Amino acid sequence: MRPAFATGLARLSDKVFTYLQPDGGLGLSNAGLIGSRDDALLVDTFFDLAHTRRMLDAIAREVGGTIGRVVNTHHNGDHSWGNQLLPGAEIIGHRRCAELMRSLPPEALQRLKDLPGTVPAARALRAGLERFDFRGIEITPPTTFVPDKGLSLEVDGVRLELLYVGPAHTAGDVIVHLPDEGVVFTGDVLFRNCAPIGWEGTFTRWIAALESIAALGAPTIVPGHGPVCGPEGALELRDYLAYVRAESERLFTTGASVEEASLRTDLGPYADWLESERIVFNVDRAYRELRGEPYDAPVDFGSLMVIAQKVRAAHEEAAARRGRAH
Ligand SMILES: [Zn+2]
Repeated sequence: MRPAFATGLARLSDKVFTYLQPDGGLGLSNAGLIGSRDDALLVDTFFDLAHTRRMLDAIAREVGGTIGRVVNTHHNGDHSWGNQLLPGAEIIGHRRCAELMRSLPPEALQRLKDLPGTVPAARALRAGLERFDFRGIEITPPTTFVPDKGLSLEVDGVRLELLYVGPAHTAGDVIVHLPDEGVVFTGDVLFRNCAPIGWEGTFTRWIAALESIAALGAPTIVPGHGPVCGPEGALELRDYLAYVRAESERLFTTGASVEEASLRTDLGPYADWLESERIVFNVDRAYRELRGEPYDAPVDFGSLMVIAQKVRAAHEEAAARRGRAH
């Protein structure tokens, strides 16, 4: 069943829900709830306490009970910075997810929000971060680890397979497959109608992860960001990644910089995706791979944001031209 893409809790089956946050852009992630009032597990929390509280209030109202377990699909703040609001819950994730959770302190994002508008990278990010409040967040990492070979759980009679598919979007990517319900929660291995951004990982592993999601055959796939889809969503993102990697390789051999390559890549069918300027991060990932750097080489976020801002302006101009042509 495909629920409408509207903010709030939607039922996917008898004991399976998703909480969606349109438009699915920066920081607006999706979560999952499995179980009922006697035994419930949450897949991911949100970017700040207010957004997480809103979801927990909806769950209390519409489902009730206590959430005893939380699975973090990966370490990014928009999937884990609300963990502290479930005191006493068992937090489950990959070991690398737990290790990386402290790599970006929430205070750093709050400071970025407070920087003057004259700092170009801050200006670009600030608009997207406006709706979030990063004060009071206490990083609460997983203490139960999903091994590389995966972990099987049962929640209120529902079978869960926690599958490790990293390093793809991050080093600690875990997806949650409910084989009897035909549902998969993918975390940010899958973005829908939104350009992806990745941290530690490789194109090869990310593409393989998307193909393994499609191969599960589940009709209902809840992406980390964007509307609920089916296997076609995973395959579409795979095609985007393969295309960007191939274009980057071609432009790399011509000596084009990351900025030039990002501007020259014709996004074609992907041009209307949200956050299309994230192409910069994907080109940079390809370039790092082509230079033979390790999969977890640090990403120079500040400089890439400055380039992304220029690319965003170019994409907006192109969209306006397309609009005029219609
Ligand atoms: Zn996310």
